[in-house]
Amino acid sequence: QAKDQGKNNFQFYIPKSDSQAESRLALATRLHHAIHQNELCLQYQPQVCLQTGRIVGIEALLRWISPDFGTVPPGQFISIAEDTGLIGPIGEWVLREACQEYMRLKLAPLQLAVNLSARQFRQPDLVAKIRQILEETAMPASLLELELTETAFLDNVNEAISTLNQLKSMGVMLAIDDFGTGYSSLNYLKKFPVDKLKIDRSFIQHVTESPDDQAITRAVIAIARSMGLRTLAEGVETSQQTEFLRQEGCEEAQGYFFFKPLWPKDVASLIQNVCKG
Ligand code: C2E
Ligand code: MG
Ligand code: MG
Ligand code: MG
Repeated sequence: QAKDQGKNNFQFYIPKSDSQAESRLALATRLHHAIHQNELCLQYQPQVCLQTGRIVGIEALLRWISPDFGTVPPGQFISIAEDTGLIGPIGEWVLREACQEYMRLKLAPLQLAVNLSARQFRQPDLVAKIRQILEETAMPASLLELELTETAFLDNVNEAISTLNQLKSMGVMLAIDDFGTGYSSLNYLKKFPVDKLKIDRSFIQHVTESPDDQAITRAVIAIARSMGLRTLAEGVETSQQTEFLRQEGCEEAQGYFFFKPLWPKDVASLIQNVCKG
């Protein structure tokens, strides 16, 4: 009888969001083992100079290929990793793997961009870990670029500035990812020692039709230029978008129009062909 009641209660009280929570829990449990089971891997998306058309960098993008869930997109599991603290070991794995693969494939002098999540950025041993990985892999610091979103800076501005300064003094490059989508004021741009703004895909997507997106994109490029920062447009999918960005003086672009994210072996042959050709 109690069992029946329990069952009824269970059925009655279970809302949709609970099944979402349950699947997050299931993912979290499996994610815990993903590193050791070799289920994580990286793809790399080339970044192109709009003046010359040459590949100037690559961004490492994390992939989880799970035997239970198939390919889980990072948009789904990074937030779980952040909530459970798994972002520490996963973020460290990404940095080490990206630097190792970069050196193994001899990709210098391309820039290697690696994403850091907000919580990862706030970990007290972040700077020491990065220094250690650079030493271990012999990756030149000036060729590593860390991508941070504005949310990384929200909590404690002074601490964020201090961490950014320590990274800069190691010679690492810094980019603000998804620029324009966060809540931060422009004020932090002059305080934070960053090198590049990545204009978010949401502004680029309709930039050839939308006067608003054109105005925002122009403004970001103008601010960046006047502050000595580089600009990269994310999610470029058409030649019209490319032409607009080139005319407005945006320096770099990344997106399906140029390249989709590639597996390491394809990066290697692409770079080899470009160098030979
Ligand atoms: P992001 O850093 O802004 O990366 C760009 C995302 O846009 C990637 O999605 C990429 O595959 C996708 N993309 C690139 N070009 C185009 C395009 O032309 N059109 C469209 N529609 N999409 C394009 P992905 O790989 O699913 O990654 C999503 C987000 O997950 C990333 O956004 C980043 O915030 C996060 N992420 C990925 N890898 C890592 C990682 O190693 N660590 C952390 N902390 N976050 C990561
Ligand atoms: Mg990124
Ligand atoms: Mg981005
Ligand atoms: Mg983005």
